Amino acid sequence: MATHLTDNCLFCKIIRGEIPSHKVAETEKSFCFLDINPLSEGHALVIPKYHAEFFHQLPEDHLADILPLAKKVAVASGLKEYNLLQNNGPMAHQVVPHVHFHIIPKNKPEDGLKIGWPQL
Ligand code: 5GP
Ligand code: ZN
Repeated sequence: MATHLTDNCLFCKIIRGEIPSHKVAETEKSFCFLDINPLSEGHALVIPKYHAEFFHQLPEDHLADILPLAKKVAVASGLKEYNLLQNNGPMAHQVVPHVHFHIIPKNKPEDGLKIGWPQL
């Protein structure tokens, strides 16, 4: 796993535990954690344990792992409505150059948003 990570990438450091994060779930190939600056309560990021800047640079085995983990988290956390976003490159608003999917809850305030992020 470590061979696919780089030394000076923020998200590679989070995967290695060198920078703390609130982990939601992980598999052998993917990692899910809460966004430090959430756009809504429960905003999570799902990232591959493979350093690549762009979605299209991900190997097939990592591609095949990351979306099922995003789905598992969405189902298990009781999300109703949400955005699933993925930005590629600065012009597309990507700030951290390590592939990541945003899961941004969009539940209505009257639903009393309480996302029960499980430890999967
Ligand atoms: P982007 O704009 O690249 O698609 O999104 C990057 C996301 O990473 C942002 O939503 C930002 O809040 C989040 N982020 C940046 N640095 C950290 C960090 O150190 N920890 C966590 N948990 N999230 C981060
Ligand atoms: Zn990285």
